[in-house]
Amino acid sequence: MRLARRVEQLPPYLFARISELIAEQQAAGVDVISLGIGDPDLPTPDHILDALREAAGDPANHRYPETEGLPEFREAVARWYDTRHGVALDPETEVVSLIGSKEGLGHLPLCLIDPGDLAIGTQPGYPVYDIATMFAGGETLSLQLREEDGWLPRLEDVPAAEAERARLLWLNYPNNPTGAIADEAFFARAIAWARDHDVVIAHDLAYSDVCYDGYQAPSILEVEGARDVAIEFNSLSKTFNMTGWRIGMAVGNADLVGVLRRVKSNLDSGVPQAVQQMAITALDDPRDSIERHNEIYQRRRDRVVEVLRELGLHVDPPKASLYVWARLPEGERSSAAYAQQLVEATGVVVTPGTGYGDGGEGYIRISITIADERLEEALSRLSAFARGQ
Ligand SMILES: *Cc1c(COP(=O)(O)O)cnc(C)c1O
Repeated sequence: MRLARRVEQLPPYLFARISELIAEQQAAGVDVISLGIGDPDLPTPDHILDALREAAGDPANHRYPETEGLPEFREAVARWYDTRHGVALDPETEVVSLIGSKEGLGHLPLCLIDPGDLAIGTQPGYPVYDIATMFAGGETLSLQLREEDGWLPRLEDVPAAEAERARLLWLNYPNNPTGAIADEAFFARAIAWARDHDVVIAHDLAYSDVCYDGYQAPSILEVEGARDVAIEFNSLSKTFNMTGWRIGMAVGNADLVGVLRRVKSNLDSGVPQAVQQMAITALDDPRDSIERHNEIYQRRRDRVVEVLRELGLHVDPPKASLYVWARLPEGERSSAAYAQQLVEATGVVVTPGTGYGDGGEGYIRISITIADERLEEALSRLSAFARGQ
């Protein structure tokens, strides 16, 4: 069978070696604990599930939804942006529903990228952006993110010729995998750069409400001028522990939202209406569940940071996201080798930074989306390993 070139261009599965190791360890009877997966272990809150149960019984919700989402869902998104971010959105033209934000991120390049066009991405980074660009026939210039820059890209490093060719700039703060945050001043610089070079900004705000120590992540739309150049992707997945229900939204510049809606209407038929109904309940009545979850995550974050430091890793406790990103101890060079050593010695799986591009070399990512007892078991094994080193 001859496959399309875009499939052959997919990067090799970077966790293949780790998956093999897990299988080997399990075959040898080891109780393997994975701290690799970023999927909330806590259930969707009950009042949100109740809304789904009720909506499921309504025959009006058994039919095809509209691609762009129910007007009531888009209005609830506008209310959320107003209360949470002080941003006024027109639900008619500036909001579209997504089958999880990954779906929208994956389809955006079909709206903006022709074969040979350029997108600007980052390393490390969430892999979906560059793969979606490649699927549309485009190329990516990856900016290396650095710890000393707070993991923010240096846009001034984009060479003039590439800046002229670029169509799209991907940003993601709070960031996966580094946990880094961006302030309004950074967004203002990015908006000015995008405007100068006629580039669209796609900002991924998946971790808007997984924040610690009182921090509140801004939307790029809070910053002046954003609406001229930016589309923002947001999701109920991480905010409300709803990864399994598949609902998100793109908001911002009306032309961009409009073209995404148009492309999507040719590919999908939207989000099941009962799921949109549950999302409305989540968005309208959110605060206590978010705070309860974040307290749990924050406690786990603190325990993980403590034990990683015992291992000699260098960590800045993240202010947001579900990840702790840690620099390898002095003398350790390879993330993959370090991750392998940990699995073999302790049965605990962490993600090598290189899973997020070559720019992640020298780091590992630990996810805090695992039940407390399992996390404690993993941490006590890591502690014992640290003492024995
Ligand atoms: C989890 C995640 C998403 C995708 O979330 P959906 O479930 O598709 O809404 C998007 N971006 C980043 C960076 C993520 O980590």
